[in-house]
Amino acid sequence: MKVWRMGSLLHTCLLSVFTLALTPFSSHASERSAEQEFNRVRLDPVELRQFLFHFPKGGDLHNHIDGAVYAENMIRWAAEDGRCVSLASHRISAPPCDPENDRPAVASIASNGDVVEQLIDAYSIRNYEMRPVAGNVQFFSTFPLFYLASVGREGDMLSEASLRAARQNTYYLELMQSWGMGSARATAGKFPGQDKETEMAYDLAIDQIASEAMAIIDSAEQRRRELQSCGREDADPACDVEVAYLAQVLRTFPRPQVRAQTKLAVRLMERDPRVVGLNFVAPENAPVSLRDYSWQMQMIAEETKDLPEQQRQVALHAGELTLGLVPPEELGFHVREAIEIAGARRIGHGIDIIYDSKRDELLERMANEGIVVEINLTSNEVILGVSGDYHPFNLYREHGVPLTLSTDDEGVSRIDLTHEYQRAVETYKLSYGDIKQLARNALAYSFQPGQNLFDSTDYKRFTGPCRRARVGQSPLTGECKELLASSKKARMQSQLEESFVEFEARFR
Ligand SMILES: [Zn+2]
Repeated sequence: MKVWRMGSLLHTCLLSVFTLALTPFSSHASERSAEQEFNRVRLDPVELRQFLFHFPKGGDLHNHIDGAVYAENMIRWAAEDGRCVSLASHRISAPPCDPENDRPAVASIASNGDVVEQLIDAYSIRNYEMRPVAGNVQFFSTFPLFYLASVGREGDMLSEASLRAARQNTYYLELMQSWGMGSARATAGKFPGQDKETEMAYDLAIDQIASEAMAIIDSAEQRRRELQSCGREDADPACDVEVAYLAQVLRTFPRPQVRAQTKLAVRLMERDPRVVGLNFVAPENAPVSLRDYSWQMQMIAEETKDLPEQQRQVALHAGELTLGLVPPEELGFHVREAIEIAGARRIGHGIDIIYDSKRDELLERMANEGIVVEINLTSNEVILGVSGDYHPFNLYREHGVPLTLSTDDEGVSRIDLTHEYQRAVETYKLSYGDIKQLARNALAYSFQPGQNLFDSTDYKRFTGPCRRARVGQSPLTGECKELLASSKKARMQSQLEESFVEFEARFR
């Protein structure tokens, strides 16, 4: 079965435009055929998986690189890198190993099926229902256990995430990563003074850490290119997956450390075009996260205020809370403050809007301003126990708030993006038009720079110089080429439109 794959975003603009000019867009008949096929398979989970696996899903905007890796790879890398592991706590540690004291080399147990099964369960949510542990506790407990296996394997992680995306006909990832954040936290306490000189020294230190974080991105990307043979004749299709980064600030640390991380995130956004935004992560129900939430929102506004408007790209985990997990007094304002105070353009999870006393007013603002919610259905069920009709998925849709589907932590959750599309289709009875909109939203609301290819998010018409071309029918030529040449976002969008054409042509 042939799967169309999106042309490399690394191609020159000319090549992209040339390809577009030669590739006529499909007729609406093909779209109708695809829709009929979707309607035929939507109640058959086996067939629906196959359909959605090949369906072009645009991108994944909420994806933590360390949580994207499956435990099997973490264990393999730990074995290859000489790490040790406690069979009692399952924590991976640095050599020298000490098998006599419960720290054998990972390599020595990597072929022991029973032990590996236990490790996989410990590094993921697999089978967690069978253990006396809450979903949220199991979920967040995995990261410190396997953390050391990921150190030095940043390029391998990029490769895994992009290979998986490409196989699912998905060619854009915004990956959250915390590279350099540990150093930023360590720096925070070293500059206690308020005088000009101390401020300058602090600034220089943050700048130095930013350089180190950028070097990690450089070497990770180099490693990914090697693993995928990019630029060679035998290049893997995954080389075409465009990856951008969000600097993720861990919100559970003392205030000076959270501010230092935020400064690093902003500096990276200023200095490295690959870092397109920032996000705040770690359990939102943790004591420090709850205590400092409003302060953190205010601090984000302060630290990002000097960024140019188009670069002030803040996405926040906000409202990843529910009644019972926290007291009612902690509910109903996190989404609001993320938007109103911190200036978030994207909201991750957004569950606690259910409890906002001025909910409809906020929903209207989100719809009007195009503030998108990154929906993570499996994650929400595991961490919050929120699913089905108890999830605000339909509430957001009814109010015209744009949504995208994302994985959150596909490795830890043992899922993939196709799974999340399937879950959404089955739970909320989505139409073929609905899933196309979700896929298009993943690019329209990405933090990639440049003008949007469409004039609105109903995706019926192209914008500006492209307006004479018809969506789904006409090739993008003439004046439209200029928009594509000047806007990376528009190029990615036009490539997604092409991939819809290729996908739908299979059902003619
Ligand atoms: Zn997340």
